[in-house]
Amino acid sequence: MKNPLVITIDGPAGAGKSTVAQMLAARLGLNYVDSGATYRAAALKVLEAGASPEDEAVVVEIVGRAEIQFSTDGSDSRVSVDGRDVSQAIRTPEVTSAAAHVSRLPQVRQKLIALQRSLVRGKGVVMEGRDIGTVVFPEAPLKIFLKADVKERARRRLHQDREEGRVASLEQTAYDIGRRDQLDAERRISPLVPAPDAVEIDSTNLAADQVVERIVALARTKGLL
Ligand code: C5P
Repeated sequence: MKNPLVITIDGPAGAGKSTVAQMLAARLGLNYVDSGATYRAAALKVLEAGASPEDEAVVVEIVGRAEIQFSTDGSDSRVSVDGRDVSQAIRTPEVTSAAAHVSRLPQVRQKLIALQRSLVRGKGVVMEGRDIGTVVFPEAPLKIFLKADVKERARRRLHQDREEGRVASLEQTAYDIGRRDQLDAERRISPLVPAPDAVEIDSTNLAADQVVERIVALARTKGLL
């Protein structure tokens, strides 16, 4: 394997990026990085400060001062803000919604992209997000754009929410996902678009391990393993 290897997985919410990226990292002995967790950590800090995620000047100031750290060891990853582990606290619907707002600001992205770029160590990383193949690692040798139809994504997200004890309806979940897709796709900087050299995989009718197999096969074809 060429060291360090960077594999990027981008795509909309609920397409299966986290599951696939974690399984792939474990399979190839790479570190898993969930870039969304860094935006969520920034959003949590803003909410805890009592500020509105839409108040740009205040968000820039709060996130600018926050010490956001990400640690990764194989398929396990943790995120912390000002020394406090917030890996669980960032998984609420309020943080999800706030993250989609704070991630629109160039100053916030600049800070978190620098953090994401600093995480390539050892044998390498599987990093998932929205702009990893286009902006964070445009030179990565293998880029995946993972998509799935919105109903299937809502169904998966609902299943995950229920497992974690949250109550939501399919309609509300589909609406929230559609709204987030729109915010992510329409933003001026780092919009959610496939890199020109990304391989698109539609996971609507595929199990996560089938997606992983396809990516491993692509990595072999490219001579990366
Ligand atoms: O992937 P996750 O749902 O945790 O991402 C939360 C939010 O963070 C997304 O809705 C998006 O606005 C933002 N994000 C981003 N760029 C990334 C990863 C996430 O803008 N690379």
